Amino acid sequence: MLDEMRLLREEVTDPRLGEMSHAPTHLADLSSDDHDVDVSIKGLERGSEELAEIEEAFRRMDEGKFGICEECGRDVRLERLEALPYAALCIECKRNQERERPAH
Ligand SMILES: [Zn+2]
Repeated sequence: MLDEMRLLREEVTDPRLGEMSHAPTHLADLSSDDHDVDVSIKGLERGSEELAEIEEAFRRMDEGKFGICEECGRDVRLERLEALPYAALCIECKRNQERERPAH
């Protein structure tokens, strides 16, 4: 899963990708014989909000704060990180947040 995130990050943060986005063969060439790239392209088709969360996760990783809840500062449970590797909040804080801001 972390490998997939790393790939996603490279795709998202690679400045050349923006310049080459008008070249239709670019991604097709990359994915022709590389399953991992295929996966990351699927990732790119997800919402930009999710990509922002992934970016945020890598920023926290760089700061050594990965796996620590942004809200309460406690460790995010491993089960949660396995389900959502870029989780910024522990499950308790996430639930509180969803209560305050219902997603609909
Ligand atoms: Zn928390």
